[in-house]
Amino acid sequence: MIASTSSLTLDQEALRINLEFLRKQIGPHPKISSVVKANAYGHGINQFVPMAEKFGIDHFSVFSSDEAYEVCQLVSPTTQVMIMGWIYKEEIEWAISRDVEFYVFDIQRLKEAIRASKIVKKPARIHLELETGMNRTGLGKKNLELALKLIDANRDQIHLTGICTHLAGAESIANYHRVRSQLKRFKRTLRNIENRGFVPEFRHMASSAATLSYPATRMDLVRVGIAQYGFWPSQEIFMDYVRTSKDKSDPLKRVLSWKSRIMSLKDVKEGEFVSYGTTYLAASPTRIAVVPVGYASGFSRSLSNQGRVLIRGNRVGVIGLVNMNMMIVDVTKVPEAEQGDEVVIIGKQEDMEISVASFSEISNQLNYELLARLPQRIERNQTNLNS
Ligand SMILES: *Cc1c(COP(=O)(O)O)cnc(C)c1O
Repeated sequence: MIASTSSLTLDQEALRINLEFLRKQIGPHPKISSVVKANAYGHGINQFVPMAEKFGIDHFSVFSSDEAYEVCQLVSPTTQVMIMGWIYKEEIEWAISRDVEFYVFDIQRLKEAIRASKIVKKPARIHLELETGMNRTGLGKKNLELALKLIDANRDQIHLTGICTHLAGAESIANYHRVRSQLKRFKRTLRNIENRGFVPEFRHMASSAATLSYPATRMDLVRVGIAQYGFWPSQEIFMDYVRTSKDKSDPLKRVLSWKSRIMSLKDVKEGEFVSYGTTYLAASPTRIAVVPVGYASGFSRSLSNQGRVLIRGNRVGVIGLVNMNMMIVDVTKVPEAEQGDEVVIIGKQEDMEISVASFSEISNQLNYELLARLPQRIERNQTNLNS
């Protein structure tokens, strides 16, 4: 195989530690559904899913049917896969035959599921998604009534695997009242549904932030994405955790590291601009290193003049605009840097570490976005477990 210009390495031990931490937080009851949409947040479904399954995960959540198909190729037949978003109606038969669970947030999909179930001769495993205040997908009052009628009339076709909802931003304290009111509304509707004899296997609403900061939302299953990869959903959730724990160190370990090499080096005279345009002016004689990673490899253009990488144990800054396939970093203070030196874009080098979050403090969302934009086609490796 020909190597790519940069490579990702997954740390198995880190994942084991993160899952153990989450289990300790939530106690023995709730099932952990590992959210692996967006190619496992850029980590790579092919590498990540078998690792997680090895550490006891037996439920995976994805956004769409193509992702579900990918996960199904990798997991044992008893492991469950759940589609939270898009599914072509032509693929519902496939989903039912493979026991893939899926969200139902409109009547059309429920009717399709009943129709497909009769053809496949197997019940559809559905999760009724309720509208509780996010105003995205989810059944409102009227459609919920219609859905319950249909389910009641088709008990052999529909297995009510779950009733769920999604919170509109539990990672930010600014949304506190909205989250509390969603929880209240969800519980009230659940009680009402259950009193009428529709009892789901799993009640669920929590993503990472709610799992960590709102214990009442854990219920029977938690849908954990970002935290299992070793990132806090936001600084606020980390602060909330640290405030109440004895140990003040970060219990989450980054699973991913991203590395490349120095492609070339040169000296730039004082007063010269670096890279396209005029965004960076060398104020003094500057030694630059070119790294063959650009926005086409997922290194966001918004990190122009802002990003940091590690070279020979030093934190050095990106200067000028990030190009499609290259970025330029200032190595003036690392005169021993040579062509071929390791460049750490995310991860550790000697005693330094760069996390995705330290790329920039512009927004918490940057974690999610940068990870999700890591390319599909990139060399991916994994470290062995410490034994
Ligand atoms: C992405 C997603 C999650 C996981 O969110 P994290 O913040 O990464 O834990 C949970 N539920 C739904 C519906 C999602 O789309």
